[in-house]
Amino acid sequence: MKGAHSQMKLLEDRILQDGQVRPGNVLKVDCFLNHQLDVDLLDKIGEEFYRIFKDDGVNKILTIEASGIAIACHFDVPVVFAKKAKSKNIDGDVYTSTVHSYTYGKDYNITLAQKFLGPNDRVLILDDFLANGKAMKGLLDVCNQAGCSVAGIGICIEKGFQPGGAELRAAGYKLASLAIVNEMSDDHLTFREQ
Ligand code: 5GP
Repeated sequence: MKGAHSQMKLLEDRILQDGQVRPGNVLKVDCFLNHQLDVDLLDKIGEEFYRIFKDDGVNKILTIEASGIAIACHFDVPVVFAKKAKSKNIDGDVYTSTVHSYTYGKDYNITLAQKFLGPNDRVLILDDFLANGKAMKGLLDVCNQAGCSVAGIGICIEKGFQPGGAELRAAGYKLASLAIVNEMSDDHLTFREQ
């Protein structure tokens, strides 16, 4: 991924500066990505995903609430996000899938109205983190139910020591992770060269 380096470097530097490693291998980045949003950084992340996937025929972006939405709004195509909470407010038929949450340690359902995703869509899936790949598996399950094609998967921070990324690459997906954490501890964090 030539040319991607400067953007990734920006994200890597920010992780080193503001990320905190929590018990259970959780990287906390709530001051720029998961709670408070650094809009300038998110713009640059969005531009980078655009650079990587602009020639892949994407006509829709699929993500999952809440953090995914912040990085998804940079293509000139609709963004649709899977909802985590059970809502009485979703019209008509829905796709659903069950996801095991890494950070909360329990299962939850994701829901997407069928009218927003179908066989004519070519989708770029975006998310903030990739760890064991369970959230992505749920989103891919929804794509499968919709009969849409998956143009690629974009991730802000992949934890390379967990198996999700390797499995998705082995399955043949075009997966771009802007920063891949090799290893992390309280006072030490390294990134994979790419
Ligand atoms: P996976 O399903 O791949 O195991 O985990 C991905 C999902 O769990 C992401 O959508 C993200 O919300 C959450 N997640 C996994 N690992 C981390 C982490 O280290 N830090 C944060 N903030 N979220 C994580």
